[in-house]
Amino acid sequence: ILNITDLSKTYQSGGQPLTVLHNINFGIEAGSTAAIVGPSGSGKTTLLGLCAGLDRSSSGAVELNGIRLDSLTEDERAQVRNQYVGFIFQNFQLLPTLTALENVMVPLELRGEKNIKPRALELLDKVGLSARGHHYPAQLSGGEQQRVSLARAFSNQPKILFADEPTGNLDAETSEKVVKLLFDLNREAGTTLILVTHDLELASKTQRIIRIKGGHLVSDEKTNA
Ligand code: ATP
Repeated sequence: ILNITDLSKTYQSGGQPLTVLHNINFGIEAGSTAAIVGPSGSGKTTLLGLCAGLDRSSSGAVELNGIRLDSLTEDERAQVRNQYVGFIFQNFQLLPTLTALENVMVPLELRGEKNIKPRALELLDKVGLSARGHHYPAQLSGGEQQRVSLARAFSNQPKILFADEPTGNLDAETSEKVVKLLFDLNREAGTTLILVTHDLELASKTQRIIRIKGGHLVSDEKTNA
């Protein structure tokens, strides 16, 4: 479902080019699970953003569900994301002026779906937050915000779900719940799951561990999961 070929990314920071990803290659099968691991600053978040079409590569190809993202405009990439991709951000990125329920409704609205409120409520219920629908992000705990962000990422029934440190700021109990939701989605709906994590125990629950160091892919191994 995802094929990355010779992918490189160079940022311009303060007028200086900074290459943070160097010729990365890998492919991910539909319905599988994978983790991207590596030290802080190694380029994991950048890589995930390129795979999901949030940003554009400097060179190389990203093919998602048979579509070449690197040759699309930003608007076209947004359409692909709405249709196929769910993304859980490290810092949640909920819209602060919308309630939890409204945040979950946004992707449904963007897809032009009807009857979206009951569907959004159902999704909030799934993450155990049906009683918090009318709360604004600032009125929710970190773990609750993370679960709203999960409900939002599930809402367009993505073929592929990217999660950047999905358990990063959560206590053990909430973290376990979030992990269960993610893997349930993979098992029940066949959603391909790609996580970035520092947690090697979580990484070992996926079928594949891709290690990045200094912007280079250093290993790509199957696990026993
Ligand atoms: P962490 O585990 O700490 O989240 P990471 O492996 O996800 O790190 P990235 O966030 O991808 O790493 O960052 C890789 C490198 O790219 C870092 O050196 C960072 O400073 C740099 N970088 C990231 N985003 C930008 C940007 N928009 N402009 C310039 N440099 C950037």
